[in-house]
Amino acid sequence: MSKPRQTVAIVGAGIGGLTAALAFARNGAEVFVLEQASELKEIGAGIQITPNGARVLNALGLADDCAAESIVAQGVQPMDAITGQPVTRFDLTTKSPAYRFFHRASLVTILADAAKKAGVHISLGQRVCAVTADGTVVTDAGTLHADIVVGADGIHSVTRDLFAGPKAEFTGQVAWRGVIVAPDAPAIAHIWMAPKRHVVTYPLKGGLLNVVAVQERTDWAAEGWDHMDDPTNLQSAFSDCAPNFQEILAQVETPSLWGLFRHPVAQVWSKGRVVLLGDAAHPTLPFLAQGANMAIEDAFVLAHCCAAHASVQSAFRHYQQLRRDRVIRAISAANANAKNYHLSGLKRSVTFAGLKTLGAVAPSAFINRLSWLYDYDVTR
Ligand SMILES: Cc1cc2nc3c(=O)[nH]c(=O)nc-3n(C[C@H](O)[C@H](O)[C@H](O)COP(=O)(O)OP(=O)(O)OC[C@H]3O[C@@H](n4cnc5c(N)ncnc54)[C@H](O)[C@@H]3O)c2cc1C
Repeated sequence: MSKPRQTVAIVGAGIGGLTAALAFARNGAEVFVLEQASELKEIGAGIQITPNGARVLNALGLADDCAAESIVAQGVQPMDAITGQPVTRFDLTTKSPAYRFFHRASLVTILADAAKKAGVHISLGQRVCAVTADGTVVTDAGTLHADIVVGADGIHSVTRDLFAGPKAEFTGQVAWRGVIVAPDAPAIAHIWMAPKRHVVTYPLKGGLLNVVAVQERTDWAAEGWDHMDDPTNLQSAFSDCAPNFQEILAQVETPSLWGLFRHPVAQVWSKGRVVLLGDAAHPTLPFLAQGANMAIEDAFVLAHCCAAHASVQSAFRHYQQLRRDRVIRAISAANANAKNYHLSGLKRSVTFAGLKTLGAVAPSAFINRLSWLYDYDVTR
């Protein structure tokens, strides 16, 4: 006898929630997405989708839309932000599918449009106040019951409250995000490294350059976890750096400032009919560009486990088994980058010399060193 059609309620219409919505709908489920924001928008920032994430988007039938709305990355160039000189350059073109740079808003639109076409019901302005293990979701407007509730509500997840895990804590690092006009920017990610700070820049469709600047600091007094900042604060954080680099930062007119928060990877990702994915389960520092890519992978695996297993509980167990070690490995690689990008003194000189040699003798080393990450295919 075939299984009755599953109903799935997804809390959060971020990249993880929308990918899950599409994947569940493609597997025949009736899907409801509840998003607190009154419109789907991700303003003023880019996102790097690496081959492992792209494989999922392709499997969901989005290859053409993704190709039309993104730029294929050609390389990554570590830079000495103090001298303004390249340290080396690595090639990013050897992987298939391609490593891509997206405007976040474009990726969200692609996912939301495809989800709606697949029959997903997306309700905006619906803040979820609580969920219970029996599959009940309480919003400001009422109550919903589903066979499966997916908590894709990000780092400050309300769904995660059900699991009584530790709250997200400030990591001692802040990030400014902004875009500038740069029609001639090459299709390269530049990593500008300085002691206790770094900046990543990469181009976006429409002649823009995405700028993410990270600084280690102890004070984080903002009420929210992101807000608009005075551009002179960004500039003065890098005032000892090279003029060619400072010129880029000087063009960021309206930077938003984010406190980077984290909590440990959840021990248990499900309870009763409720399951977590993406940042709600395992936030990561953005130094390996994997937070959204991991959420995309989670979404695909979860939907497939739920379609394949007879019971929700065994599906959730299998999902966590397939995902937990991998996300822990990605998170520790991102943590290592956090250290390597911010070196000072002798360690910095030695690391730069090593990178220079590596880039000269093995330009594919950067991407090959991460083949455990980029070559992984959750769709197989
Ligand atoms: C500066 C920076 C750069 C980054 N760059 C990259 C990158 O290049 N590549 C990459 O892979 N990752 C990157 N990341 C990480 C990535 O942004 C996150 O990991 C990813 O967005 C997580 O997706 P998610 O769907 O789990 O959560 P989110 O994107 O946080 O989405 C959660 C959604 O849930 C909604 N929500 C929350 N609470 C409720 C509620 N109670 N009721 C209803 N809705 C709710 C929110 O409004 C939101 O829409 C970066 C992060 C930062 C900070």
